[in-house]
Amino acid sequence: MDKVIITAAITGSRMMRDVAPCIPITPEEIAQSAIECWQAGASIVHIHVRDPKTGLGAQDLDLFRRVVDRIREKTDLILSLTTSGIPGRNLSIEDRLAPLQLKPELASFDAGSINLGGSVFINTPEFLDETAKKMKEAGVKPEIEVFDSGMLVTALRMRDQDKLDEPLHFQFVAGTPWGAPATPKSFLHLHEMMPASSTWSIIGIGRGYLAMAMMALIMGGHIRVGMEDNIYVSHGVLAKTNAELVERVVRICREYGRGVATPTEARQILGFKKR
Ligand code: ZN
Repeated sequence: MDKVIITAAITGSRMMRDVAPCIPITPEEIAQSAIECWQAGASIVHIHVRDPKTGLGAQDLDLFRRVVDRIREKTDLILSLTTSGIPGRNLSIEDRLAPLQLKPELASFDAGSINLGGSVFINTPEFLDETAKKMKEAGVKPEIEVFDSGMLVTALRMRDQDKLDEPLHFQFVAGTPWGAPATPKSFLHLHEMMPASSTWSIIGIGRGYLAMAMMALIMGGHIRVGMEDNIYVSHGVLAKTNAELVERVVRICREYGRGVATPTEARQILGFKKR
């Protein structure tokens, strides 16, 4: 079994300080948190940015650039930049894809639309086609985010149409109140639909995060943790840093006997060519 690739999702675009008092907001805080996660054993960081004044999610290229430059200067982390925009605000395709200009190795590819809280996270067929095309042109691997089985069907159809290339890399998002639940049975169904050549990781949202991480650990997948997905480091105890969340799964992986991949090893597992 391959070593475990740990992705740290630093801040997301939704959680505010009233709920998550330690969540990184400014480009400096986001970059610093990513560096700490790398030191703790993460090999990928999933990056959103926030408006430093309001704390709200942003999709501003200059903010991304400040975060990315700092991380690249200090670490060999694999960058996975978000293209999700701000769910509910329906940004233009161009704005959502702006981070591709920074040539990350991965970028999120949300393979369909879904309700999220009081709003709809809209990913139209036109957006998916355009995003797949632009990622191919930029040499960025899509990290296919799957919130339910229909999104996996969509990704497979796009593979059949040569819009997405195998091996596919999936990020399963389990446990949102509007999509696939964070249960072993639900995940096993998704797992059996996936092509055998795929690489995959799981996000368990909220209280599902540790259970889903354990599914990935025993089944040969990879794990995403971080304050975008879950803000508790143990029952009722808020994480003070993202690194604490990484440290917890690193300890569990080591105890189980499956090593944690360095960024170099993660690049081999994901089949990235040297740039
Ligand atoms: Zn995200």
